[in-house]
Amino acid sequence: LFSPLFDSIRRRSVKIRVSISTLVLAEHEGGFVKQSSLSAVAAAAAVNKEKSVSVLLGGSGPSLLKAASHAASCHPSISQVLVADTDILLHPLAETWAELVRLVQKQGSYSHIISASNSFGKNVLPRAAALLDVSPVTDVIEISEPRLFTSCSDFPHVSQKLFAYETSYQSPVGNALSTVRYMGEDPCMMTIRSTSFTVSACSSDSKSSEAPISKVDLSSFNEASFPKSRWLKLASQESERPDLGNARTVVTGGRGLKSAENFKLLEKLAEKLGAAVGATRAAVDAGFVPNDLQVGQTGKIVAPELYMAFGVSGAIQHIAGMRDSKVIVAVNKDADAPIFQVVHCAKRLQVMLNHLVLSISFLISVLEKLVEFKPSLSFYQAQLEIVQVADYGLVADLFDVIPELIEKIPDK
Ligand code: FAD
Repeated sequence: LFSPLFDSIRRRSVKIRVSISTLVLAEHEGGFVKQSSLSAVAAAAAVNKEKSVSVLLGGSGPSLLKAASHAASCHPSISQVLVADTDILLHPLAETWAELVRLVQKQGSYSHIISASNSFGKNVLPRAAALLDVSPVTDVIEISEPRLFTSCSDFPHVSQKLFAYETSYQSPVGNALSTVRYMGEDPCMMTIRSTSFTVSACSSDSKSSEAPISKVDLSSFNEASFPKSRWLKLASQESERPDLGNARTVVTGGRGLKSAENFKLLEKLAEKLGAAVGATRAAVDAGFVPNDLQVGQTGKIVAPELYMAFGVSGAIQHIAGMRDSKVIVAVNKDADAPIFQVVHCAKRLQVMLNHLVLSISFLISVLEKLVEFKPSLSFYQAQLEIVQVADYGLVADLFDVIPELIEKIPDK
């Protein structure tokens, strides 16, 4: 009954380009392109079968040049490296970067602009999208076609009008994945989950595959254009433990730990395991640990080999940040905690969800005729994932389990 509606929605697509050229907004540190940006390159390569990925780096000094030569040789899909060499970009402020993206898009007319879904990407990409007057797709985890993506964002992709739709169908323990077809003007802008696009080791010594490096024309770019924000300082926690975002093992504590003092117990376990410490938002909000340890939708996204959760209930916003971990172990004294659960009811919900998508699509097409309302993205199909959160679950008191683990795990 409704399939002609889908067809009409698909036909509405504005300009479908034949050629695809992708720009990756990349971060660098110590003369190397960051791992998350390399994942964005891998995503760009999945979009772009023509293998013409441009990488944009900003900053100044020798470390920028070193990072540019790293970018030039680190992935076979990279066809050029663009360097925005200015002190204005020494620190990645969203306002300056967004303006840079607008400038580079004007010069290069890219069909896609991609960034990792980390604080840099989440800051810059939406601002740049607003300047370019397009809607970004966020938290892409799979690219089926150049304009068809699976996204696990909890935020609306289309407009405020569809916000209720997307959030109301989240399952208690999993994420509602949406398949999103981008139907707007170029560029199609997206952030990608780095954990879903892995990169193989860089071929930095294979000179034959080096891409050319060119400078972006920054004649119209000056500090006076950005009066509203200023870099003051970087405040970061020094730690001997591995970085939470890249650690192979993460031990996370929730509100169940009850105090900052008790988190020291978790830190001892982390030391034994060579692990990073994470926390839920409830633990952060209670002041047990600083907020850079927060894992989840509004914290860090992690995908370690082993994720151990102590006193964590398994709220959807937390699961959103650790669901890609290879092995998940949960210790909770409540046997009914969502972190132990499996969702079976997906099929019925999916039918309801699809009906809702169809109704919304119908509403959009009516609205389009009545007023000038053109959504640039369309929910094409939606599905719920059947998930079991914890691979291993232990119903026990964490204050018994953690000391026992510390005692029994041998020193390295
Ligand atoms: P609780 O839900 O209070 O769970 C504590 C658990 O500890 C319980 O299951 C309890 O049984 C167990 N427990 C208690 N004592 C013991 C014991 N002695 N031994 C064993 N188990 C014990 N949350 C995040 O984590 N990350 C996010 O990024 C995030 N973003 C959010 C964004 C939005 C917009 C919103 C609305 C919420 C967000 N949240 C986020 C909050 C989230 O909804 C939950 O409130 C939070 O994750 C709960 O944290 P918790 O599991 O530590 O606490």
